[in-house]
Amino acid sequence: MLDFLFPTYCVNCGSIGNYLCPLCIKKLKSTLPECYVCRKLSSGYTTHENCNKEDLDKVFVGWEYGNISKKILSQYKYRYAYKLSAILSSLLITRLEITGFAKNITSQTLLIPIPLHSSHEKERGFNQSSLLATNISNYYKCRIDSNILKRIGGDKHQSQQSLRDRGYLEKDIFKINNGKKMVGEDIILIDDVISTGTTLNRACHSLKGNHIYAITLFRGKPRYQYLRQQDPLV
Ligand SMILES: [Zn+2]
Ligand SMILES: [Zn+2]
Repeated sequence: MLDFLFPTYCVNCGSIGNYLCPLCIKKLKSTLPECYVCRKLSSGYTTHENCNKEDLDKVFVGWEYGNISKKILSQYKYRYAYKLSAILSSLLITRLEITGFAKNITSQTLLIPIPLHSSHEKERGFNQSSLLATNISNYYKCRIDSNILKRIGGDKHQSQQSLRDRGYLEKDIFKINNGKKMVGEDIILIDDVISTGTTLNRACHSLKGNHIYAITLFRGKPRYQYLRQQDPLV
């Protein structure tokens, strides 16, 4: 009855029936394992030793950022957020399983979603990275702490994307709540988009855990594609 009154449309193509239809899901371009710093292929998504910035050891990216992901993320801010988050989480978990990255998630893992600045969260009423992290922790039965990181920088009223485009140049954009010590913790940061990696770097710098990894949904075109054009063997 509710479906009849409020039909569900695909956020990308507008077809009726799903918030993201199977055809559009197929169009999402999966990424290959790469080093998040130099963006060259790297098995296990491991950051090369020479590239290792702030000891962020591995960064998983689900798909290339493109037209569909742009639409998904813009709708994510509005009323479809919870439904879309459920769909994206299950697609992400499938990717984590297929690629083997899921092996990095154990019952000891602590998931930490990257917080929005509080004014953005108030506006929207939720943080999409928290929704993703909650779904992942429910699936893998691991721990989650959505309150440990507090964003203290980037408080001008800017769109999230423009903040990301700027790479959050402020030196200390996060602080740790309650002075909790994260030493010895196996942490996985969760964020929806990675651009330069600065946000994740800063969070990693504040946390100083044992191993710190990150899981993100989307990132712009990888470098190995250009390498591939020059050398088909790459
Ligand atoms: Zn569609
Ligand atoms: Zn590298």
